[in-house]
Amino acid sequence: MLTHMPVLVLNASYEPIHICTVRRAILMLFSEKAMVVEEREELVIRSTSRELVVPLVIRLLAYVRIPYLEWVFNRRNVFLRDDFECQYCGVTRPAGELTIDHVLPRSRGGRTTWENVVTCCRGCNRKKANRLPGECGFVLRSPPKRPGSRCMMLATRCNRTDVDKWRRYLFV
Ligand SMILES: [Zn+2]
Repeated sequence: MLTHMPVLVLNASYEPIHICTVRRAILMLFSEKAMVVEEREELVIRSTSRELVVPLVIRLLAYVRIPYLEWVFNRRNVFLRDDFECQYCGVTRPAGELTIDHVLPRSRGGRTTWENVVTCCRGCNRKKANRLPGECGFVLRSPPKRPGSRCMMLATRCNRTDVDKWRRYLFV
């Protein structure tokens, strides 16, 4: 579906702030809240009265202050950071079937921070209990860390080719 393809939204300052759908981007363009920065040249949306090249990157005309760019630390965002994937066995599950695991267990002084908490399936959580990963043969798929910008995290969930085309805006 063309209208559900992702569009990178830049602030008036060109800072990437959001990823929305083509549908939402077109509404912002029509209401003159944004302008097109890059288009998907090969894709055109036709209605009875007009043709529009599908936007790839748009930019807001007015600068908006975004206080929520920092990720709040909570369960849901830990799952998002880890792509809902158990960081020990790699299984992917819906949020309701996942839990968070303290890499250094709380009983041994481990803290509840981005750097010490990972997404974990119930099976692995039970097996690991109050041990360190190395003590039960577990290997972390990637070391837990504080996530980067919210936009970058959203981008990693989008189609590889889209992210490639956005790259120069994401790393400004
Ligand atoms: Zn697991």
